[in-house]
Amino acid sequence: MKTESLYDVIIIGSGPAGLSAAIYAQRAQLKAVVAEKEYMGTGQIAESSRVDNYPGLFGESGYDLGEKFRTHAEELGTEFFEGEAEKITSSDNIYTVSFADGKSLSAKTIIYAAGTYRRRLNIRGEQEFSARGISYCAVCDGAFYKDKRAAVIGGGDTALSDALYLSDIAERVYIIHRREEFRASEALQEKVRQKHNIELILNAVPVEFVGDKLLTGIKYSQNGEEKLLHVSGSFTAVGSIPNTDILQGIADLDKNGYVIAGEDGVTSAKGLFAAGDVRTKSLRQVITAASDGANCIESVRRYLCG
Ligand code: NAP
Repeated sequence: MKTESLYDVIIIGSGPAGLSAAIYAQRAQLKAVVAEKEYMGTGQIAESSRVDNYPGLFGESGYDLGEKFRTHAEELGTEFFEGEAEKITSSDNIYTVSFADGKSLSAKTIIYAAGTYRRRLNIRGEQEFSARGISYCAVCDGAFYKDKRAAVIGGGDTALSDALYLSDIAERVYIIHRREEFRASEALQEKVRQKHNIELILNAVPVEFVGDKLLTGIKYSQNGEEKLLHVSGSFTAVGSIPNTDILQGIADLDKNGYVIAGEDGVTSAKGLFAAGDVRTKSLRQVITAASDGANCIESVRRYLCG
């Protein structure tokens, strides 16, 4: 079934970048629709336990911050469409987005703000114990490890934030990181140092998840030796991969799959703009995603005015 209306812009993704674009689209009086994979979604921000660096909203949980963005967009009259975008085609300067359920939407422009997903380690036992002890979201699954031992794998902001969150629930939290130095901010590192129940396992590379029906431990290699850490839960936080498969052949991507675009969101595809974590940038934060959404609407406006 094809919807009849032609939109000025289809915003793909309802995280901070997409919702900010929606807010600016309403103010610019553009005919816009936000296509979201999950009903009432707010993107990966919902998985952050605490956001301390968004001006004016200090200490909000990521979930609450996402809900505020969404309510704001809804209050201004944003139209939402639930569906997983599967294909983008263009003809005569009109883009058509086809969704998994067979429906489609057409517009003069697209703002692509589909975000990223968590990278897997691709080691033995990872698939077997996924959702049986292995998780990718501390805020979602942390409560299962009350008074138990849990590990976080990674050394970036996500890993350290996850470890801090878990340290208030679990008996003991181990951070397994492949180097000596952390990539995470100094502020997070300082908080981790102050936690008596967080232990660091450095220069350590996980090689296998082990268990019976449920996860019981992680084998890792450290200084040429293989060791076993007994834990009930493991949270993988080793970076993200952009959701850009459907842009292959449409817009230029860098070697890691990010859409090549500057602050204005302009990509190699005329009329298709990229916002948020999916685009090439040096700082992936809620505030830069929200800023991208605003900038992209300005680019859309200019593009439509010719
Ligand atoms: P990230 O910064 O890319 O860090 C990934 C971590 O995983 C790195 O420490 C990396 O080690 C490690 N790693 C990667 N591949 C690995 C592998 N195969 N085996 C073992 N370790 C591996 O990812 P992130 O922490 O998810 O952060 C992504 C972006 O979101 C960043 O820009 C971050 O600043 C932002 N973010 C911000 C906040 C906040 O401000 N509150 C919270 C969360 C995320 P190496 O260091 O050795 O490369």
